Amino acid sequence: MIYLDNAASTQLDEEVLTAMMPYLKENFGNAQSQHSAGRACANAVSAARDKIASLAGCAADEVYFISGGTEAGNTALKGVCATHRKGHLVLSSIEHASLSESALDMKKLGFDITFVEPEKDGAVRAENVLKAMREDTIFCAVMAANNETGVIQPVEEIGKICREKGVFFYADCVQSAAYMPLPVNYADGIGFSSHKFYGPKGAGALILKKGSKVFRLISGGMQERGFRGGTVNTAGIVGTAVAYERACASRNEVNAYVKDLRDGFVARVLKEIDGTHLNGAPEKTLPSIANISFEGCDGENILFLLDLKGICVSTGAACAAGAASPSETLTSMGCGLKHAKSSVRFSFGKHNTKAEADETLNCLKFAVDKIRNNR
Ligand code: PLP
Repeated sequence: MIYLDNAASTQLDEEVLTAMMPYLKENFGNAQSQHSAGRACANAVSAARDKIASLAGCAADEVYFISGGTEAGNTALKGVCATHRKGHLVLSSIEHASLSESALDMKKLGFDITFVEPEKDGAVRAENVLKAMREDTIFCAVMAANNETGVIQPVEEIGKICREKGVFFYADCVQSAAYMPLPVNYADGIGFSSHKFYGPKGAGALILKKGSKVFRLISGGMQERGFRGGTVNTAGIVGTAVAYERACASRNEVNAYVKDLRDGFVARVLKEIDGTHLNGAPEKTLPSIANISFEGCDGENILFLLDLKGICVSTGAACAAGAASPSETLTSMGCGLKHAKSSVRFSFGKHNTKAEADETLNCLKFAVDKIRNNR
């Protein structure tokens, strides 16, 4: 198998699994329990929290362990709405469904929303976010990097605007966390998922700036200082800390390796296959993602033909897979419907090789030719 869908999920690192194993086997206690088995888990969770805080550059009590990016986004957005009871939300139109759907849920409860579109290059402009703000704006969400195009967003500038206006700013860092530092000095809320950087699924963190007023989403026991009920996922949390530590330690090396692979692949696709277009400004993207449109093809058909050859790619976000409508991200960048429907996302990771990129290019040529010529 050639796996070029690392933006959807990544393979668990062996070292991460090794660190998690004791908490799946012998140290299986409940971190909330008063006895030694519980304390062993509570200590591991506490050490993981300290590690993430020190790598991220925030305080340990600003880190909340949650199930991943979806829960982080829901908690921040709905938690701010629950605090204010009414008001206006500003979101980029390219947010992940965990934010946009949460906002639409809140609209049903009476909150107003303004969606800010990106420019043709895939990046939202801070001045347009500012223009969208109102007296009653309480929340703003702009992701650090988009999951479909990889385009990096100006979260630092937007965060400064939000701070001046007293608006809670949430930066979804699910895609960027492996590749860039977290914007802890500019965002009030930050979320990430461990499985995007070779960690376990169903685990991640929400970092909330001290003093921010966010009502809890999940009520229950006193876990996560009463903010998030539910038995603590000790193994997932230990795995999250080890995976994040490894991602930070190898960031420069992995970024350079992945970028080289991705750039080489993109250059050959654009040169060797006619009617191909890269979506999103290349100089603004994460090193890992290439979103390419193929004239005269449906992206889904390319995906299926590549899959037959054992190559895994995607058309847009994994959670929107199977959706009949074209990508909201691409259409809001100004791509026509046909152009958007003809796109394929290739997302590289540290385990991919040049030989895999070359093999993918060959299969891609075959697939595009087959579709265009109805063979
Ligand atoms: N935000 C972004 C930008 C994502 O790409 C994803 C998942 O792909 C999520 C949030 C949700 O993460 P999870 O499915 O791990 O909850």
